[in-house]
Amino acid sequence: MNNSSITITPLFSGSSGNAILLSSGNTNILVDAGMSCKKIVEALNIVKMNPYDLSAVMITHDHSDHISGLDVFTRKFAIPIYATLKTWRGIHAVEKKPHSPDLDNEIIPDEKVQIGDFVITAFDTPHDANGSCGYRFDTDGCSAAIATDIGMMTPVVFDHLRGCTGILLEANYDEDMLWNGEYPYYLKKRIAGENGHLCNDDCARTAVTLCKNGTRHFILGHLSKENNLPQVAERTFLRAMEDEKLVRDRDFTLRVAKRYEPTEPLLLEVML
Ligand SMILES: [Zn+2]
Ligand SMILES: [Zn+2]
Repeated sequence: MNNSSITITPLFSGSSGNAILLSSGNTNILVDAGMSCKKIVEALNIVKMNPYDLSAVMITHDHSDHISGLDVFTRKFAIPIYATLKTWRGIHAVEKKPHSPDLDNEIIPDEKVQIGDFVITAFDTPHDANGSCGYRFDTDGCSAAIATDIGMMTPVVFDHLRGCTGILLEANYDEDMLWNGEYPYYLKKRIAGENGHLCNDDCARTAVTLCKNGTRHFILGHLSKENNLPQVAERTFLRAMEDEKLVRDRDFTLRVAKRYEPTEPLLLEVML
């Protein structure tokens, strides 16, 4: 009997910085490098991962909370990087020193790329960064997706999430906290807009449908520091599930990714 597994370990998650480790056991991939190189290395050490054992870094988009550590990290460890062409333009524009062009790989949404044990598919996300995308990872019998920085749930995003065993899904803001909060009006409009971020309610609604389509494990991620709280995001999620008679730890598992430190790894396992 073979054992196919994917472990998702958020190292950092939130508007302050993002980096998520995915591992099949043999192949290790980092999604985003939005903290300093030093902090990413420290977090990898905590979860007992050697940076040199990474096969690739996949970048979702060029906002600083996703790439701020990439420049130094890449020059230090020389790991291949994957991003869409438009995201590459953004990455190169803010690089302090160029890295070896051999490390640059262009990823095209909906075209599958094999990296070690993973078949990886990027998918377009509606967000105010050119070329922004999410990623789906498939191994034999197991699948995971990272979907953050999505202004609204589109059919394209949903189609790539459907059927995944486990998903890290954005729960960026609580509507009441955002609209009653301190942010200037233009910023509130940007966050809540179709190219902004996903709110707790939309995240929960999406998760209910995904759960009915077979997804069993959810991590809420990219929470806003000012307009959300882990317990608020979790409560919204659980209420939506309860309304549909979906029971925690029977029908689904849930955790909230931590902002500044690694979250307990989520092991997705399928016995073949
Ligand atoms: Zn962004
Ligand atoms: Zn972001």
